[in-house]
Amino acid sequence: MSDLTDLYQAVILAHNKRPRNRGKLPTATRVASGDNPTCGDNCTVYLCMDGEKIGAVSFEGSGCAISQASASLMTTQLVGKSPAEAESTFAEFKDIVTTGGEPEAFSEIAAFAGVHAFPARIKCATLAWHAALDALKQPDRPIDD
Ligand code: ZN
Repeated sequence: MSDLTDLYQAVILAHNKRPRNRGKLPTATRVASGDNPTCGDNCTVYLCMDGEKIGAVSFEGSGCAISQASASLMTTQLVGKSPAEAESTFAEFKDIVTTGGEPEAFSEIAAFAGVHAFPARIKCATLAWHAALDALKQPDRPIDD
């Protein structure tokens, strides 16, 4: 078993301490939520499109450090991408957290490779990404409070 310090690497700690794009997105036209009851994580992702690309993305949620850091990282990875690019970024991320493999190019998502040694935490790491992909499949609509 890997040392837990391998799991909580600097990137994860930084995202957890100072999450990027946290809070409701006022311009959002798409929203999706997910939860991970085994760990107690939940996450809501807000999206607005800019043509065919993701114009802005934010999240709200609570849970373990992995789930929150992953949500923060997800927002920085998906902005500016098309839905197809977002899917392939998630596929790469999922591969890394499942197998511990290396990304094709240097990316912060590599920080999550340590998660593969803790299979129960894979759902923590992928929660926000699943919500984001759900949101991407939705039609644009006004988001109520
Ligand atoms: Zn968790």
